[in-house]
Amino acid sequence: MVKPIVIFDMDGTLLDLAYDDLIWNQLLPIRYAETHQCTLEQSQATLFEFYQQHSHTLNWYSSRFWSAKVGVDVLALQQEHQHKVSLRGGCIELLEYLKANKYPCWLATNADCASLKFKLEQTGIAEYFDVIVSSETLGHAKEFPAFWEKLHQQHPFNISQAYFIDDTEKVLLGAQKFGLQHLISIQQPSSIGLVRDESPFPMLKHLTDFIPLLEQAEEHKQYA
Ligand SMILES: [Mg+2]
Repeated sequence: MVKPIVIFDMDGTLLDLAYDDLIWNQLLPIRYAETHQCTLEQSQATLFEFYQQHSHTLNWYSSRFWSAKVGVDVLALQQEHQHKVSLRGGCIELLEYLKANKYPCWLATNADCASLKFKLEQTGIAEYFDVIVSSETLGHAKEFPAFWEKLHQQHPFNISQAYFIDDTEKVLLGAQKFGLQHLISIQQPSSIGLVRDESPFPMLKHLTDFIPLLEQAEEHKQYA
């Protein structure tokens, strides 16, 4: 039997979103206030407004866009703290299980190519994936079905069989619009953030919770 592919999001799914929170919500406001000689409160208010304006767009995920917009080298800021990029618990265990059981794994991220590169270098997880793609390369954020159409054109896959795990509800809804059916969310994307109590999609508490879920679904298929 051909194994279905498992497509993973990166930040907040395989990696702890605490790092991105540190960069965007703590360090950038400080750096922005220093650069523009304003108070931290003013900096936070300005950045928060920018974030609201660009949330869920391709710009939102672009270090280059933000560097130009805020006058701070955001890629350099991220790289200065790249040692703080960390895997979520159970990440390697899950990827090892999928590899041992011959499930093809793909990484589909909204992180831009530059951030993707240093995050992969930092975590060493690239070797687990057959396909690694950034929305920057495809020209559409994952929130939009156009991302999935492009991905499917470049790397054809069985849409009805594939699993997709992502911590962002809007992304899962975009994938659903495209036709993906096995969609899974994450209960606590950041180790220092909120634990979600509801989602329209099944949520993983620990990444390894995906293993029994997958085994059950695949066993069910064998006897269907
Ligand atoms: Mg994510």
